[in-house]
Order: sequence, then C-alpha cells, then structure tokens
Amino acid sequence: MSSTEKFRSEFRTWLRSGLTGEFAALKGRGGPGREHEAFAERLAWERHMAAAGWTCIGWPQEYGGRGATLEEQVAFHEEYALADAPARVGHIGEQLLGPTLIAFGTDGQRDRFLPGIRSVEELWCQGYSEPDAGSDLANVRTRAERDADGWSVTGQKIWTSLAHESQWCFLVARTGPGTHRHEGLSYLLVPMDQPGVEVRPITQLTGTSEFNEVFFDAARTGADNVVGEPGDGWRVAMATLGFERGVSTLGQQVGFRRELEELIALARRNGAAGDPLIRDRLARAWTGLEIIRFNALRMLDGAAAGAPGPEASISKIYWATWHRELGELAMDVCGADGMLADGAPYDLGDWQRLFLFSRADTIYAGSNEIQRNIIAERVLGLPKEARA
Ligand SMILES: Cc1cc2nc3c(=O)[nH]c(=O)nc-3n(C[C@H](O)[C@H](O)[C@H](O)COP(=O)(O)OP(=O)(O)OC[C@H]3O[C@@H](n4cnc5c(N)ncnc54)[C@H](O)[C@@H]3O)c2cc1C
Repeated sequence: MSSTEKFRSEFRTWLRSGLTGEFAALKGRGGPGREHEAFAERLAWERHMAAAGWTCIGWPQEYGGRGATLEEQVAFHEEYALADAPARVGHIGEQLLGPTLIAFGTDGQRDRFLPGIRSVEELWCQGYSEPDAGSDLANVRTRAERDADGWSVTGQKIWTSLAHESQWCFLVARTGPGTHRHEGLSYLLVPMDQPGVEVRPITQLTGTSEFNEVFFDAARTGADNVVGEPGDGWRVAMATLGFERGVSTLGQQVGFRRELEELIALARRNGAAGDPLIRDRLARAWTGLEIIRFNALRMLDGAAAGAPGPEASISKIYWATWHRELGELAMDVCGADGMLADGAPYDLGDWQRLFLFSRADTIYAGSNEIQRNIIAERVLGLPKEARA
C-alpha cells in the first residue's frame, strides 16, 4: 500500500468512527447557502477533529500539522466529501491565514495564532473587499495609523464571509498616507470583539446571511500584528489569494460528483432523463467533471514544485463555470417543481439553493474575468491591461 493509500485508509477509519453518536446528525449539514446550519455543533465536530489531529494536516509538523503531502491532502478532502461530513467552519484560518503566517509571519505571530487556528478555538475572516475594491484590490481605502500603542484601523469592508462568527480578521489597509495602488498597503491582524468594529449582515439571494459589511472605526490592534513589513502588504495579500485559489480546492470535485450523481438519480426518477437535451447536458456535466479532476491533478503536479502557479486560474474558471451550469441544469431537471418553495419564501430545497448560491461561484476568490486577465498576462504573455 502506498503511503497516500495508508493515510487515506487511516482517515477513512477515523471518520467512520468519528461521525457517529452526537455527530452522526451532522452529515451533509452546512455548506454554501447553509452556513448557518448547526454552526455550534459543527464547531464542536471540528474541535473533535482537531483533538484527533485531523485539522491543518498540510501544515508542517513543527506548527502542529501533519506535514501531509499534496496527494495526502487531496485524499483527505476526497474522504471527507465521500463521508458526507459537515461543511468546515475553520477553513479560512486553516487554508488562507495559516499558510500565510507560516510563509511570512514572525515566530511570535506563529506561536500566538497557529495553535488557535489548529484547535479551532479562534475563527478568522478575510477583510479584503471594499466598496470599489473587490477585483481591484489595490484600490483599498481602509487606513491604519501607527501610534505609541499599536495600530488604529478605520474604513469599511464588504462581503466578509463568517465575520459574525469570527474572533479575528486579517485585512489589507493603507498605512502609507498618500500612496497609491499596490504601494503603502499593510496586512494586519485585527480582533473583532472590540467597540471599534461593527458587523452588519447582508441578506443573500438564498435568504441567509453568510457574509457581512464590517465597519472599523479607530479599531485597535497590537503593534506586532502586522504580517510582513509595514507597506509590503500587497505581496502577502497576493500569497493568501494563491492559497485560496490553489490547493484548498483540490478535493472539491468529490463533492461535485455527489451532487451530479444525485441529480442524475433525480432525472431518472422524474423522467427528465428521457429528454434528449437534458441527457446531453448531464453527459456533458459528467465529462466536465473529469476535466476538473484532470485539471486538479495537473495543478497538483505543478504545485509539487512550490506554490500552485497560474494553472490555479484555469482551474478556478473551469470549476466555477461548471458548477454554475450544474445549478441551471438542476433547475431544468426539476422542471416546474424548481419554481416552488416548500413553505416560507426562503424554505428552499437543495437544488434551488444550489442554483442560487452557485451564481456566486464565478465571483468569489477572483471573478472569471479577472482569472482570464491573469491567464492572458501571466500564461499567454499578452500585453498588460491598460489602466487609467
Ligand atoms: C459568496 C461570496 C463570499 C465572499 N467572501 C469574501 C470574504 O470573505 N472576504 C472578502 O474580502 N471578500 C469576499 N467576497 C468578495 C469577492 O472577493 C468580490 O466580490 C470579488 O473580488 C469581486 O469584487 P466586486 O464584488 O467588488 O466586483 P467588481 O470588482 O466591482 O467587479 C464587477 C464585475 O466587473 C468585472 N471586472 C472588474 N475589473 C475588471 C477588469 N480589470 N477586467 C475585466 N473585468 C473586470 C468583474 O469580473 C465583475 O464581473 C465574497 C464574495 C462572494 C460572492
């Protein structure tokens, strides 16, 4: 048995015994459009995983991880999805901030923050987007000023996922007054539980509120809570985006496969599979899923040499578009039933939720248009986009 297969089998065995008793009811809970579901119970589940050493497995052992290889990390995500385990709650800290601190943080920052992420005692949110600074992140206006006691942060962030559940936020703020674009930005770690931070939920198409507006009004953070050099935040922020688009998405095709299999079963049951156009789209969806898998493997190959390269953008466009189209196909398979909610206006079925939430897939973690720009400039070597 290869070491990856051994790892896979160890995790599968643990999941089988772990997802029982009080945790059995958590199978399939949470996820996009349903982040509010059983949040406290999912947090307890994730702390249970942490106690058994199954969080942050890709981190080096010296920082509390298992030093799992990329193949082992893929196996982990695949087994997790196959077991229908609940959606993760600590993923922003584990997959975005953790690797960033390991690469750019000081020893003091790693000692202070990595254990809380690993044990899932502290949840993190990502304060990048602002009104007028989403795709154009270099337009960030939130500012932070250094004084005798630390940093004072003032500004507004938007679309901040899980800010209402998080104890900390990593954010990009302008610390060089009078600077423009990528210069003069800093990457700061800011506590959420303080008078200068206000979190206002945004209601989504699905009727739920998974993300928020966050207002900082002279919010405080310690002098040591800047990652990288002050003014060098752009480089650190871009590294975090690389982690977001890269390895953390490698196992997702298993979850997609489950969705497609369930949709095919529904099409068989309700007769939609008899429609030649639906059959064709289901077959195309299956082919697309294979392409997602091969793209993931190709990315894995590239990533073995270091951080995932621009292939991550190809992968992001492909899976996001595929999943959005799956949502549309699901509505057509449901037929007229797709238009009816069970009870209250937002009492949505799984397919309706998939359709509505998957509209966001081509936006977050970098929109399709932005990924195309990256491919054009960094892969094809085309001239850079003209900017004012
Ligand atoms: C579900 C969800 C969760 C999110 N969670 C977070 C979070 O936790 N933290 C966080 O910071 N942000 C989060 N976001 C925000 C997300 O990162 C931004 O929505 C995204 O970066 C796009 O920015 P924008 O919404 O400001 O749109 P804009 O930047 O205003 O873009 C609008 C449209 O114009 C296109 N466009 C813009 N510039 C160009 C260009 N140069 N060339 C071609 N086309 C262009 C875009 O592709 C898009 O289609 C989340 C978003 C969603 C949908």
